[in-house]
Amino acid sequence: PATEAYRFPLTIRHLLDSALTTASDRRIVYRDQGSWTYREFAGRVGRLASLLADLGAEQGMTIAVMDWDSHRYLEAYFAVPMMGAVLQTVNVRLPAPQVAYTLNHAKAEILLVHHDFFPLVEAVLPSLPGVKAVVAIMDGTQGALPAFAKGEYEALSAAASPDYPFEDFDENAVATTFYTTGTTGNPKGVCFTHRQLVLHTLACNAPFGAADGTGFAYKDVYMPLTPMFHVHAWGVPYVATMLGMTQVYPGRYEPEMLCRLHAQHKVTYSHCVPTILRMLLDAAEKTGTDVSGWTITVGGSALSPQLCAEGRRKGMRLIAGYGMSETGPLVSVARIRPGTEGDDAAEIQALTATVPAPLISARIVDDDMNDLPHDGQTRGELVLRAPWLTPCYTGDAKASETLWHGGWMHTQDIATIDPDGYIRIRDRLKDVIKTGGEWIDSIQLEELVATAEGVVEVAVVAMPDAKWGERPLAVVVVRPGAALTLETLNAPIEAAISQGTITRYAKLERFAVVEGLPRTSVGKIDKKLIRATHADNAQA
Ligand code: ADP
Repeated sequence: PATEAYRFPLTIRHLLDSALTTASDRRIVYRDQGSWTYREFAGRVGRLASLLADLGAEQGMTIAVMDWDSHRYLEAYFAVPMMGAVLQTVNVRLPAPQVAYTLNHAKAEILLVHHDFFPLVEAVLPSLPGVKAVVAIMDGTQGALPAFAKGEYEALSAAASPDYPFEDFDENAVATTFYTTGTTGNPKGVCFTHRQLVLHTLACNAPFGAADGTGFAYKDVYMPLTPMFHVHAWGVPYVATMLGMTQVYPGRYEPEMLCRLHAQHKVTYSHCVPTILRMLLDAAEKTGTDVSGWTITVGGSALSPQLCAEGRRKGMRLIAGYGMSETGPLVSVARIRPGTEGDDAAEIQALTATVPAPLISARIVDDDMNDLPHDGQTRGELVLRAPWLTPCYTGDAKASETLWHGGWMHTQDIATIDPDGYIRIRDRLKDVIKTGGEWIDSIQLEELVATAEGVVEVAVVAMPDAKWGERPLAVVVVRPGAALTLETLNAPIEAAISQGTITRYAKLERFAVVEGLPRTSVGKIDKKLIRATHADNAQA
């Protein structure tokens, strides 16, 4: 029947179809080292597939990349899944034993490795019996190839054919895999199919393509500031390529290089965690970079109203995004509440919360999975369904059952949803402070303490307490020369208590001053480490 000829699998290669027609002369830039048109990019994707095939790559095989954000990484985002293989984006900031664990667990057989990670690979290779070939990425530097490498990326690519015969196959084939940042125990593997990533890309385009100034479109210039190893750089490289946008890949994140690339290429859209936004604002101040007109989706941790306001004063458009490794990551993105345009406070309020993306079904539930009201006040665990959530943690039936308990994906995040569907993440279940029968959101306490005189940065963690169960401890970075007291820290909390916006149990009895707050491998504040480091602050 005619329908047989019309079967159309949602595979990643089709994301290139319209871009190559409409934007073939647009460019993909890599640092200050060069740029390639989309037409050249397509040829390089073909060459990468050919060279991988020469090294023995086949359908279903895992091919791992260890690189900074680059045009090469984008080539692998396409070439590897397009040939039916599985792309593993390796978190190069994990400790060596965990990197080895993830490569073994994913059964990676070919590695593409930037020279910065040669020592890491050298150290772990003896424990990776499954690896058949390593391709070295010299990244424009001269120097001898390491003994473990089969060849160099550019040389092998130049010798390979650009005309790889990509074919269609089942859209349910796995396209990508990567590992959660492993805050407890070994990192857990998630995976996504072609169909899931294509739907994710289309769904991302809906909120991001919004015409209210919170999104991006064909005319924009994109630079990722969330590593490509972390949840597909939030899926945006696929969206940007599908739309044929000019793209700027910054390599390793160096503040001055980022400012330079931003100015040179007139970057208009990025995404990052709050820590990177902080770094950008400081670097822009130092280098005199004009950041106005820069739209940035900020996610991975809460975008505080203070940071949002500070960026806006510099002319940035900041929009919260919420998601996680298990969700590919798109769940929800902020948008301006109709009718409040131009009202700064109302805009900040809306832009620091998020509304579900198309095809996301979100509930807040109690421990027995009963629905809780969407009144903006009642807190519950956020559980989700959508076509692109990871089906499981690879090879971990027990953790997968917990993740998908009751047929909904459990985020382990406590949220409220208001009548207009705005989701506000109040805290992670494991970070909330349970004191004297009340729950205090560490995020709310942090936002209050951050406004106290002399505070540069703060994390609030729960400390075990014999009488109350847990009590909050504020761990603070102080402005040089400022004398911080408990009274100064408590001033904004007391104001909130008297306004009735936080429980009176939130008042602090303890704080600790530190030089800097520890970060996870993707730049979030590492509360687990803070809790462990300050355990002696707990009161028996
Ligand atoms: P990790 O748990 O190591 O941080 P992920 O990168 O998968 O791993 O992060 C997902 C988590 O990040 C979410 O479950 C949530 O707790 C937090 N998060 C992400 N976006 C936001 C946001 N907009 N506001 C508050 N928290 C967020």
